[in-house]
Amino acid sequence: MRLDPRFADIDAPDLLSERVILVTGAGDGIGRAIALGCAARGATVILLGRTTEKLEKVYDEIQAAGGPEPAIFPMDLAGAIAAQYDMLAQRVEEQFGRLDGLVHNAAVLGMMTPIEHYPPEIWQELIQVNVNAPFLMTHALLPLLQRSAKEHEYASVIFTSSGVGRRGRAFWGGYSTSKFAIEGLTQVLADEVDTVRVNVINPGATRTRMRANAFPAEDPETLLTPEEIAKAWIWLLANPGPHGESLDAQIP
Ligand code: NDP
Repeated sequence: MRLDPRFADIDAPDLLSERVILVTGAGDGIGRAIALGCAARGATVILLGRTTEKLEKVYDEIQAAGGPEPAIFPMDLAGAIAAQYDMLAQRVEEQFGRLDGLVHNAAVLGMMTPIEHYPPEIWQELIQVNVNAPFLMTHALLPLLQRSAKEHEYASVIFTSSGVGRRGRAFWGGYSTSKFAIEGLTQVLADEVDTVRVNVINPGATRTRMRANAFPAEDPETLLTPEEIAKAWIWLLANPGPHGESLDAQIP
């Protein structure tokens, strides 16, 4: 598999200048690469995740590379309630006065086990992080995104899916179910709003901790890196065309 070549044209250093983009799960894996890639193209990035030290490292990397000063927003999506999302929206409004991109990347894998044996508490936490959190966050931030779409002509919400979000597979239980829900959320929201662009990307197999946990015997060297895959998100954040699409970052 290789990156779909249409996502490669993202080299302009000012591609995302002036934009304010929030990335969830920005401390590691694909989210970290999206955050660094957006900052390298001029965006002010809001780094949201649960491990503050990881977010601080990404912050330092952006600063060292001379990117616009990012913001850190530590938040554990497993326990966050609606009021915390409202507070997030208030902080973004106060600090930046706009939001042009919302990248829902954070997710957990849960357990690889048959439904028959799936522990209910792991299922519930997974659905909280992978489905309820993207809903609650979108719900709270949509007014800001709609304002950006009106005042700056473009705002984008990108959800993150998976191959098992389109075709279920044995033992992928809560994770597969959550990604089907994300595909559905994308379709419903895209059908409801026409100012903000709403799309979902399936990264395909990528060299991260999550992939290594799901496929421990696989040689990571055979997989595309998060930096390469992140180009699909950067392309989508810079391009006002696609809306309501379910995209694949990789092609055979
Ligand atoms: P990683 O496990 O490497 O990174 C996941 C990120 O989400 C981490 O930054 C993690 O934070 C964060 N996160 C997890 N739980 C929470 C939480 N409760 N609150 C806040 N942040 C949280 O995963 P990938 O980079 O591989 O995956 C990124 C996205 O791509 C996911 O949506 C995944 O489902 C999807 N995907 C990945 C594929 C792959 O091959 N890698 C294939 C298909 C889809 P922390 O580091 O602090 O734990």
